Amino acid sequence: MNIVIVGAGPAGLFLANRLLALSSNHTVQLYESNQHPTNLEYADTREFGLGLGAKVQQYLNSIEGLKQQLDSQGIKLASGGLILIPRRHLCALLVQLLTRNTHQISHQNSRLSINFNVPVVDVDLVRHEVVIEKNSGHETVAYDLLVGADGIHSVVRKAMMLSKPDEIDFRQQQRPHLWKVLQLPMPSELQQSPPRLIQLRKRNAQFGLVFGGCLPGKNGNLTALIFWQPVGNSDRINSYGIKSQQELQQMLPKKFPSFKLNEEQAAAFLTAQPGHEYWSQCRYYHDLQAQAVLIGDAAHSMFSLLGQGCSAAIKDAVVLESLLRQHSEQLSLVLPEFFAQQVEEGHAVSDLGLIALVFYHRWLGLLYKITTLLWVVVLRQPSIFARLNQVDANYVQVLHENRFWIWLAKKLLPNP
Ligand SMILES: Cc1cc2nc3c(=O)[nH]c(=O)nc-3n(C[C@H](O)[C@H](O)[C@H](O)COP(=O)(O)OP(=O)(O)OC[C@H]3O[C@@H](n4cnc5c(N)ncnc54)[C@H](O)[C@@H]3O)c2cc1C
Repeated sequence: MNIVIVGAGPAGLFLANRLLALSSNHTVQLYESNQHPTNLEYADTREFGLGLGAKVQQYLNSIEGLKQQLDSQGIKLASGGLILIPRRHLCALLVQLLTRNTHQISHQNSRLSINFNVPVVDVDLVRHEVVIEKNSGHETVAYDLLVGADGIHSVVRKAMMLSKPDEIDFRQQQRPHLWKVLQLPMPSELQQSPPRLIQLRKRNAQFGLVFGGCLPGKNGNLTALIFWQPVGNSDRINSYGIKSQQELQQMLPKKFPSFKLNEEQAAAFLTAQPGHEYWSQCRYYHDLQAQAVLIGDAAHSMFSLLGQGCSAAIKDAVVLESLLRQHSEQLSLVLPEFFAQQVEEGHAVSDLGLIALVFYHRWLGLLYKITTLLWVVVLRQPSIFARLNQVDANYVQVLHENRFWIWLAKKLLPNP
């Protein structure tokens, strides 16, 4: 079977690894619009660390050699057994193992063809073809199974929606917050106990919440994921509308006067375009006639607070690959069963992510944190974060346990 995967993010790369390792029947062609992950600069303003919990670690460990690489290249956080690794670094490892484990790359007749800088620009679901854009012009590639692993702005999903708008029923919401990554050199006196949260402050600030979760990096830097909620046009690119390195430096917390940004880091941060976060759901993840299926963020996106995006994306890949083996590639069985197993879970995990709306709400957030504290300390029950990282917990169950909060969160969603 000739499988075309659009998108070499965690979901697409993991799926390619599994397909080639566990079955000898497939050829896999992967198309990625971005550069090879090792070509890009490590210290980047959009390069956030992925926190990988026990559940996703278990899936990743099924790829030969990945556990050792994650142990040596990720950072193990004491709390909850999380491994922290930049998204791009995880992708680079998955590419490395994919090419090493299959021993073939882009040779004629090889089972794997992996193409960076080659976006898929159009999809013909009737003829079972995708159109790719190369330097030399557009080319058409035929497929037996098309996997849309191309994230929130998926071209495969767009084609499915155009062909069957009522069936796919895609809904999307953008969180009001924007984000950027600030790379900070770690002062030596903070190396033993680095700060976990950093708040940029300005006297008499008329702007919204500005804070960043701090993550240690392998290069000795701290990576602060800065979120803010714009209140006008002046802070659409940078929180507080800051424009200069001096302003940024002054806003770093008084508690840590030793944080000294160099010019390059400050300029990279200030000129970068901020990112958005999305919540999305679609009713169907597949189109049987078109022989197409969506996995990962292309099917279900969520706000990042709970750190489950990668886990849910990779779970889709695990289920799809095992159904292909179980049903000897009969798509008439594989795709409906994939839908039956994954759509409810996909809806549950994206809804769970809405907890961010409660968590960061001025007074509901306080109520939520006090209730959680009582729940964890007095009743000795796991928090939602701990619960989601338990290997045997499924998202539908956890959603049920948190239904009151998610119901409240949905009330805060502008147009659910
Ligand atoms: C700020 C932030 C923090 C996060 N933190 C965490 C965390 O701690 N833990 C966690 O598990 N998750 C986290 N996530 C979510 C996680 O990054 C995603 O859920 C995960 O990357 C989804 O993987 P994916 O492969 O489905 O999609 P993506 O990672 O979006 O990959 C899709 C790929 O498809 C490519 N592509 C898109 N269109 C085309 C095209 N037309 N042709 C070819 N290629 C195309 C893109 O370039 C991209 O490489 C976070 C997300 C954000 C934004």
